[in-house]
Amino acid sequence: MNLFELTCNQFTERFRKQYGKGACHAESLYRSFYADVGFDPASLPCFAASPQSRQAVVTQFSHRVPEVIDRQSRDGVTKLALALSDGRVVETVVIPMANHATVCVSSQVGCRMGCRFCETGGMGLIRNLTAAEIVAQVFMVKVVLGIVARNVVFMGMGEPLDNFDAVVQAIRVLEDQRGLNIAKRRITLSTAGLVEGIRSLAALDWPHLKLAVSLNAADDVVRRSLMPVAGRHTMAALKQELQTFPMARGNVLLMEYVLIKGVNDDPAHAARLALFLKELPPVRLNLIPCNPRSSASYAPPSATDMDRFHQRLINDGIFVRMRKSKGADIQGACGQLGGRQAKGVGKR
Ligand code: SAH
Ligand code: SF4
Repeated sequence: MNLFELTCNQFTERFRKQYGKGACHAESLYRSFYADVGFDPASLPCFAASPQSRQAVVTQFSHRVPEVIDRQSRDGVTKLALALSDGRVVETVVIPMANHATVCVSSQVGCRMGCRFCETGGMGLIRNLTAAEIVAQVFMVKVVLGIVARNVVFMGMGEPLDNFDAVVQAIRVLEDQRGLNIAKRRITLSTAGLVEGIRSLAALDWPHLKLAVSLNAADDVVRRSLMPVAGRHTMAALKQELQTFPMARGNVLLMEYVLIKGVNDDPAHAARLALFLKELPPVRLNLIPCNPRSSASYAPPSATDMDRFHQRLINDGIFVRMRKSKGADIQGACGQLGGRQAKGVGKR
């Protein structure tokens, strides 16, 4: 049984059933597991009197961590390539802030959404990650790199709503105060706009969770040309779903818009985008200059065109900012995950 897939309460429950031991033992075990990679359960004083249960715990509960097979840093951004137990590789990006870090986690190996501008999309879906494999990415950053992970964004490889159950369970584990303690308001789930997935998420009624939607276009025609998934999920359906999405006071929907030269960057697009956004609950729009893919002709617009687009949205009263993508030179920026390493099976 992998500790990374359980909340403390779930662990306590199993522990009680399996060993007849109480919450106290379980909780101190759980806390210790999440605090230190080299933690030895035998060292816990509560097991001093019961070597049998100590042995059982050591053999039955694992918190095996993925192996770091590559680590690159540039501009302070670190990209980790992590080999999973089957040798598949996922990428996790650590973006430093003033005195903490944002961890960008992957939810799948590859992605089946096939967005044309995205490196991961070119891989297709290889497999879903388990909740434990998602949580382990954050654990690695905290414990192995020693960096305080304060925010988690599901903006690495994969479409989180295409791996719904594992992602939901991972969020439950991440927010456990006896473990990694990352509250929902510091977790952002970014989706290409899967309407049923957003509806299922809404049904959980987690109003503090931050939802980001990768819009990337102001109308269905352009959107479909960039994101095949837009053929099944129109912007009207998306709008309707977002209008009823539960949100705590002060929470905003994030809209992501990758700016691509000659595709979605002219003033008419900006005007249409503003109209769309105005019909939504409070939104914040992030404009992201398209990062080049290894094999596609999409490019970012000129600085002048990006400024014009940005300014047009400001004039229309939209809360918008231009996001500088860090880590582009280590292929660690948005949409660049899934290069050589992720596709292959890890070197062991
Ligand atoms: N599948 C989810 C989350 C992972 S993608 C989603 O699509 O939202 C994370 C973000 O990277 C998305 O906002 C996506 O639009 C952006 N992205 C993808 N390719 C990009 C590229 N070439 N340049 C800049 N951003 C890109
Ligand atoms: Fe998948 Fe997101 Fe990339 Fe689209 S942008 S292919 S949904 S990872």
